[in-house]
Amino acid sequence: MELVYMTAHELHRMLSAREISAEELCRAALDRIEKLDGRLGAFITVTGDLALDQARAVDRRIASGEEIPPLAGIPVAVKDVICTEGIPTTCGSRILSGFVPPYSATVIEKILARGMVMVGKTNMDEFAMGSSTENSGFFPASNPWDTDRVPGGSSGGSAVAVAAGQAVVALGSDTGGSIRQPASMCGVVGMKPTYGAVSRYGLVAYASSLDQIGPISRDVADCALVLNAISGHDPLDSTSAPGDRPDYTGFLNREIKGIKIGVPGEYMGEGIDPGVREVIGGALKVLSSLGAEIEEVSLPHSKYAIPAYYLIATAEASSNLARYDGVSYGYRVEDPKDVVDMYSRTRSRGFGTEVKRRIMLGTYALSAGYYDAYYLKALKVRTLIKQDFDRAFEKFDVLICPASPTTAFRKGEKMDDPLQMYLSDITTISVNLAGIPGISVPAGFSGGLPVGMQIMGRPFAEGTLLQVAHAFERSTDHHKKFPEL
Ligand code: GLN
Repeated sequence: MELVYMTAHELHRMLSAREISAEELCRAALDRIEKLDGRLGAFITVTGDLALDQARAVDRRIASGEEIPPLAGIPVAVKDVICTEGIPTTCGSRILSGFVPPYSATVIEKILARGMVMVGKTNMDEFAMGSSTENSGFFPASNPWDTDRVPGGSSGGSAVAVAAGQAVVALGSDTGGSIRQPASMCGVVGMKPTYGAVSRYGLVAYASSLDQIGPISRDVADCALVLNAISGHDPLDSTSAPGDRPDYTGFLNREIKGIKIGVPGEYMGEGIDPGVREVIGGALKVLSSLGAEIEEVSLPHSKYAIPAYYLIATAEASSNLARYDGVSYGYRVEDPKDVVDMYSRTRSRGFGTEVKRRIMLGTYALSAGYYDAYYLKALKVRTLIKQDFDRAFEKFDVLICPASPTTAFRKGEKMDDPLQMYLSDITTISVNLAGIPGISVPAGFSGGLPVGMQIMGRPFAEGTLLQVAHAFERSTDHHKKFPEL
């Protein structure tokens, strides 16, 4: 098999046995970026020289006889919403052009401490607002399975990089589905950890009460390895959960006999493409043959999730994005008449259409007289959604549904209809509202395009998600299929 399509745990063995060098592996990824990225648009910045330096440092450790840790020398791509010291971080927005962070996010410090090799910063919907990566302020990304189609979003570039062998693993961020939905559409694994499991320090904020960083990988074992690397308490993030995290690889290779799986009826009916439903139905049969007990469950407040999310997320965004005023970061218009003119023209030009739509929605929802009617009501709905999950988890270990209602749609198809675009998050956003973990794993194909199965669990039950996902993966070979490029 081509080097670039191997997993981190396979490559770790080869690196340790000196069958390949980290430099060779890094060059294979960089060659792949060079060869394909004109078509795929996965990267905003490629950090080739830096990556080669990092790879050579790992080779020196191997040469000195050191036993390297699992992810050392593994090429990783990082969503451009995560701050990297000395390396431009744009959030997919023109308003941050020219911004070079003076510090790195905690997750970056953590992956570099493990000897990972960062090949570049990936394309995304501007400020993570979108479901297709078409809202990138620079260029859209393409789905490697069909380049006329979107890769999903907002972490589209990270999912594409992993699916196309431009990196072995990647980091994304997920506020309403932005890791799981593109992972599903690109045929890779993507996990949104429990809110607070992974530090948000250095993650540029979209909606602070929903945002989480998580892994994108080619298989479940790699997901566990990356989660091991990035999770943990961080005193620099006040919302970071205290306490130790388990070794997530300890949940792999376990049986799932007797595990109770609930299937929310609300996420298998109307609005879900019949081809997607069929694939998920087939996947549930596999899980049942492994001894899982499967039953339907109801999450009755699901129908309010989209409106609640688009009030809460936009409200938080309107205040988070107030800081881009042309003074402290990035872009500023030339020759402003006065300060108001500078603010207004910088923001009008620097932000794209969708971001402006959301700032206006959020500002409106928070304004005096509307706060109670919209924002406060949305918060109450959020609690009801959380209680739906609490009730379901009294009976079930995990819940399963599609990670996306459709397979990858055509470019341009939903760009003129924001509501249709928002509906592509119908099965993922409740997980963020409830703060629980969710993972998407390749479950099969519909019309030649990948379908992801989402597994959701109790807060901090990432281990259980990995256990079920890995049991499924061991019985199937969907994760071993690669796009022809
Ligand atoms: N598509 C959703 C949105 O536009 C979710 C994005 C995300 O998770 N960052 O808000």
